[in-house]
Amino acid sequence: MLLNPVISKLSGKLVVLASASSRRLEILTNAGLRFEVVPSWFKETLDKSLFKTPYEYAVETAKQKALEVAQRMPCKHLKTPDIVIGADTIVTVDGLILEKPTDKQDAYNMLSRLSGKEHSVFTGVAIVLCHDKNGSDTKNPDYKVIDFYEETKVKFAELSEEMLWEYINSGEPMDKAGGYGIQALGGMLVEYVRGDFLNVVGFPLNHFCKQLGLIFNSPSECPAHKIKWEDSRESDESWTLVNNLSKCAANGEVDLQEISNSKDVSQTSMQEQKMIGPDCAKCGRQDVPHSIMDLLDGFKASKVTLFTATKLKVFDVLSCSEGLTLEEVAGQINASVLGTERILDAAVSIGILERVKQQDDTNVYRNTEQASRFLVSDSPQSLHGYILHCNDTVWPLFSHLESAVREGTSQHERNFGKKNEDVFQDEYYSKEVKIRFMNAMHNIATMTGKDVATAFDLSPYKTACDIGGCTGAMAYEFTKAHPGLSVIVFDLPQVIEMRCHFQPKQDNDRVLFVAGDFFKDDLPKADLYILARILHDWSDEKLHILLSKLSKISMPGCGLLVSEIFLDEEKKRPSRALLQALSMTEGKQRSTTEYSDLLKKHGFTPKLIKYTDNLLDAMLFVKEDQNDKRTVLACSSESIETAALD
Ligand code: SAM
Repeated sequence: MLLNPVISKLSGKLVVLASASSRRLEILTNAGLRFEVVPSWFKETLDKSLFKTPYEYAVETAKQKALEVAQRMPCKHLKTPDIVIGADTIVTVDGLILEKPTDKQDAYNMLSRLSGKEHSVFTGVAIVLCHDKNGSDTKNPDYKVIDFYEETKVKFAELSEEMLWEYINSGEPMDKAGGYGIQALGGMLVEYVRGDFLNVVGFPLNHFCKQLGLIFNSPSECPAHKIKWEDSRESDESWTLVNNLSKCAANGEVDLQEISNSKDVSQTSMQEQKMIGPDCAKCGRQDVPHSIMDLLDGFKASKVTLFTATKLKVFDVLSCSEGLTLEEVAGQINASVLGTERILDAAVSIGILERVKQQDDTNVYRNTEQASRFLVSDSPQSLHGYILHCNDTVWPLFSHLESAVREGTSQHERNFGKKNEDVFQDEYYSKEVKIRFMNAMHNIATMTGKDVATAFDLSPYKTACDIGGCTGAMAYEFTKAHPGLSVIVFDLPQVIEMRCHFQPKQDNDRVLFVAGDFFKDDLPKADLYILARILHDWSDEKLHILLSKLSKISMPGCGLLVSEIFLDEEKKRPSRALLQALSMTEGKQRSTTEYSDLLKKHGFTPKLIKYTDNLLDAMLFVKEDQNDKRTVLACSSESIETAALD
């Protein structure tokens, strides 16, 4: 197998796909690659006339996309990735580059140009290898870029006007280069394909694996290899992510000429590069603990830039103007100028605020786009409530982590003097604490609701029940996405009582609220049950009570939608889920297989999985008909195949 040895070399590395394309995600997921998706913000506006060939344009766009993500992640205090993959697919015909159509007319122009002709599909790919240079400046790592392109020839049949418009009206052309998707309806327009089919879908998997092989595998396979330093700063320390690369260079099998001709190449020759072990892939120096220092400072970064600045309403006061001076901010948040300067400058250094020099030489502070969108308390996608919950509840829990680990508990009692960690089950929790918890849930449900609600075709279902549906934020998204669906929000009486704090303006008679305890009371009848962020909170034993009840009232064909953070099968990622587990009492994070096993025991068969690129993913289960012997055989990223056993 070409793939497996390469893929295993990547295990333990943070691999990032700088693309929001679900097609690329699917190709790489199916190949067994474990990666995170961080869509690039690079605007595809390079001047095409500056490129001698179309593929140079695609390669450059891919490179810029990947570099934008590679540079943004450490600046936004995210972990520096090890590898970022960027890709850009274009279609060329008659000397023109066709990207995604802007509207139906544009799609028509593109498709009629392709009709009856052979055209080329180019995908430019960039693999950016990131390296925290000397550990001294983790926000300025060095980058090496390996780029390549793949060309596939595609011939379209003659397309009648009727066919063209039927295809355009299907909506499929709109987000696809050249205005067609070969993997779906667009496949019917194609007479033949010469070359890599997946390249037309959006990612040349075969060529990509060969390139990975060159980077990570045998030196004897190492031909001319295009590696560039993307850092114009002079470097007297060189590095290599690849054990064998220096061997390749010594064998003369790396195109050193090309490297030394490159305008932004390091002055250090390849022969001088250090051999480093795979565990040190991230850094050239083994005597400086870069990653450990990142971890050490991580808590300061979140306490300063998120928790404290949110509590002091820094983002809110900055949202009311084009920029405020230090003294103005200090005045508005009622804090000392010195302390305010420290917190603002720290937030600027982390990239969550901006400091801009005015014409009169004074500095003003402003929210970045991210801060305006996610940190200002009244923005539609605000995480304000969730951040306050993290500061006031989660932070104290993490302060007693030693005892939590020793005792295997969440330390709720030690911190808050309450036995029960569920704020609604303990009458001693104040109203303020309850509202804060609901606010936090509301933020995340608002942020993820649409993606979860639209993850699957739910048109067969008419009534849903959102078990533990809290403020109803998720339920409202389900009714918005599915006009034929009514949703009952089922939650504890104390939660239902306080729902009016959250949905006062929403007048939607398709969302109903029912109070009850899902362990003790009867559950409402529905043909779809939603369990969003419920299962991870409880042990298998406790869930047995809830799932047995659900199983009993569900008719064959009844749906069950689970939305959680799914652990990968090796339980290595996402760390967000594993870190969250430390403040849980009896619950646990689970992989899709574990959720499937759990639900199968109660007669629910896994049907579909959707990785949303948002904070929560989703799985759809269907209640089995006990007389039907069909069973699940295999599971891919988006679909689970079923086959008759007998
Ligand atoms: N599903 C919501 C979401 O995704 O935003 C909220 C998830 S929150 C982690 C868990 C919810 O379960 C809370 O609203 C809580 O009140 C509710 N809950 C906990 N125990 C419950 C019980 N025994 N019966 C009903 N609801 C319960």
